[in-house]
Amino acid sequence: MRYLVLTDIHANVEALDACLDDAHRRGYDAALVLGDVVGYGADPNAVVERIIALAPAAVVRGNHDKVAAGLEDAEGFNAVAKAAALWTQDALTSGHRDWLATLPAGPSLVDAAVEICHGSPYDEDAYVFDAVGAARALRSARQPICLFGHTHQPVVFEQSAKGTRLAASGETRVRLRAGGKYLVNPGAVGQPRDGDPRAAYALLDIDRRTLDLIRVSYPVADAQEKIRKAGLPEALALRLATGR
Ligand code: ZN
Repeated sequence: MRYLVLTDIHANVEALDACLDDAHRRGYDAALVLGDVVGYGADPNAVVERIIALAPAAVVRGNHDKVAAGLEDAEGFNAVAKAAALWTQDALTSGHRDWLATLPAGPSLVDAAVEICHGSPYDEDAYVFDAVGAARALRSARQPICLFGHTHQPVVFEQSAKGTRLAASGETRVRLRAGGKYLVNPGAVGQPRDGDPRAAYALLDIDRRTLDLIRVSYPVADAQEKIRKAGLPEALALRLATGR
């Protein structure tokens, strides 16, 4: 089984299409979506349509999806995120808003090896940035491979008898040891924040025990242009160019 892993797409259809094209070329069996389908970008409806068409084996909601669906207010958001959330609520068709509202909270078990969540397996909104946070998250994880998003940083944490460590980050291939426990973030499709503006996603091959953290160039200027035209905050357009 080879999984396409997507998270933090954030209504960036240019980035999503580039990832889907690349993944189609490489080949996969099923898709997993770890939340934040919308919020920040200018194409929430097109992105929701693409995800529905993918028919993911599992999908969980993100914090931005909850606000866009009207399940939570935007009080915890900063001014830019809040402005984008309100714009997104307005832009979504009622059908797409309903679809977002039905997305389950993580964690969701996918198969005997894999589970998915948005922030962490103990709290869907918690951020896991470092090995200490990863150790806590892995104590709650029920499967040997736990996939998460939310931080927009592509990272692999590995737990062994020696403890929990950062095993990889950025664009790379990781071989997953039998008996190891892993917490994996594929990085953000639609709003990378690790200084690399290319879209990020992952391919996880359960049988070969390989994980590829992949980066793909996409037409950033087109996504920026749409953000400006939509009247969304300029900061959201600017950050796409720097990947911050
Ligand atoms: Zn996000």
